[in-house]
Amino acid sequence: MKLLDLDFVLTSDRSMITDHHRKEFVGFMTTSPPIILPSFLWRWIAAPKPKIDEYGRPLIAPYGMRKVEASLVKAGFKAAIIDPSKLKPYLKKVKAVMVGHHDYFGVNPPSVQWWMLFGREPMNRVELFKLMSLLKYAKEHINKDLIIVAGGPAAWQWIRFPKLREYFKVDVVLEGEAEEAVVDLAKKILNGEEIPDHIEVKPKDAPENIPTIIRPSVNGLVEVSRGCPRGCKFCPVTLRRFRHFPIDMIKKEILVNKRFGIDQVILHAEDVLLYGANNIIPNPDAVLKLNKMALETVKDVGWSHAALATVVVAEKRFKLMTKLAELFNEHGHDYFGFQTGIETGSPRLASIIMRAKAAPYPPEKWPEVVEEAFGILHDLRIVPASTLIVGVPGEKDEDVVKTIELVERLKPYRSLIIPLLFVPMGLLSNKDWFKSYEMKEVHAELFSVCLKHTLRWAPEIAKWYVKDSKNPFFKFGVIAFIKLAQKISEKIDANVILESVKKAKEQKREGIYKEEMFQAVPA
Ligand code: SF4
Repeated sequence: MKLLDLDFVLTSDRSMITDHHRKEFVGFMTTSPPIILPSFLWRWIAAPKPKIDEYGRPLIAPYGMRKVEASLVKAGFKAAIIDPSKLKPYLKKVKAVMVGHHDYFGVNPPSVQWWMLFGREPMNRVELFKLMSLLKYAKEHINKDLIIVAGGPAAWQWIRFPKLREYFKVDVVLEGEAEEAVVDLAKKILNGEEIPDHIEVKPKDAPENIPTIIRPSVNGLVEVSRGCPRGCKFCPVTLRRFRHFPIDMIKKEILVNKRFGIDQVILHAEDVLLYGANNIIPNPDAVLKLNKMALETVKDVGWSHAALATVVVAEKRFKLMTKLAELFNEHGHDYFGFQTGIETGSPRLASIIMRAKAAPYPPEKWPEVVEEAFGILHDLRIVPASTLIVGVPGEKDEDVVKTIELVERLKPYRSLIIPLLFVPMGLLSNKDWFKSYEMKEVHAELFSVCLKHTLRWAPEIAKWYVKDSKNPFFKFGVIAFIKLAQKISEKIDANVILESVKKAKEQKREGIYKEEMFQAVPA
């Protein structure tokens, strides 16, 4: 392999540097330990190795890392993203290695709950430990001056788990929007100045100079807006300033991906339907213009997230959902989907933890808003992959019962519904994780109802989702996994889930499920 002359390498582990066979949703498999399928097949489906050039640069990399790479290159630094399998020779000579991740230690949703429920560490944590062990080795034996910087959306985990930080010898933790802060840091490193061990970019200091990416992002993901105006207490996005990127800049990034053969885009925002809006009322012209541009530029267009209240107001006031579905249909897309949060079916809890989630409707109307949005989406063949939050501080049994009732009412609507155990983030970051052994009967019932709902709709959704995949083994793997999961789920009801909770409780007695579990260093 030829080596580039670099001062900074950016990297992550295999669970991040992969295109998941160009199916973003398959990426969720990296948050679980292998189940049902053999480990090698699980890993191959979840995170295949991408194409790598003669210098060790992966064809694709996570979008956030591409932004940091572009910031450094634009500022004149010698920097590039290098695949984890090709890092070693670079570690001898670079000044710093910068690592990014969505969930370093498998403690975010949903990783942490698969870890607790299946009793084994999730794939992303296992892969990260492999990468960090290499960096630690390099720092101890190959390049003693090597500086290790950890950033990205999960940077907070290095602060929360100091033992792991100490063990892996991470010098700097960079939290928040990094585009400008990383340039200052790189200057200090090159000049041999003292560097801070923790940099936190607050919303008031959010960067103004955000460059366009220069090499492709995973699955053509391109950010259209940053932040969210709804301010849910449990959400880290609440701490980001709400703004949108110009359509020309978005198109330029789509074309960067296309130039490298990625004829698709995932429009990324916390709520794509709020693109161009000042608050929680959509700007229909901006949303239509954005989607039209994307559909005319690349073959496949998808969305990352949208909010259910925006779906309702967009359709009622502007017929926007209908117009968007027609636009997608004209370009040959009979279905499309996005991720969204239901979180709870309890008006009481919604009023406490997410007062603006239902806006412009009152929080007490949240269950009705969810039902109405699901109805609109079902009729237009738009598929919400939705999540619930379980065990949020202050939750009562009657709240969970309301959520079960809501999920039951959502049965006729094509969708996925995944319950997630509470993780302390956003304004609730001082709280503790909700552990699987804390689950009560009512939670087990909720998990059982969601499992049945999701597996009822999964085969139809999966067939559509993988229909254009050119890899027959991948298609077969996904369909076979769902069929097997369906078979197994026939035997799973609330009692079976309660049994597994009982087991988790026993394991806690043996000392496995202590808080310390999260920051246990590799054996
Ligand atoms: S609506 Fe979604 S992205 Fe916005 S604050 Fe709430 S949970 Fe976060």
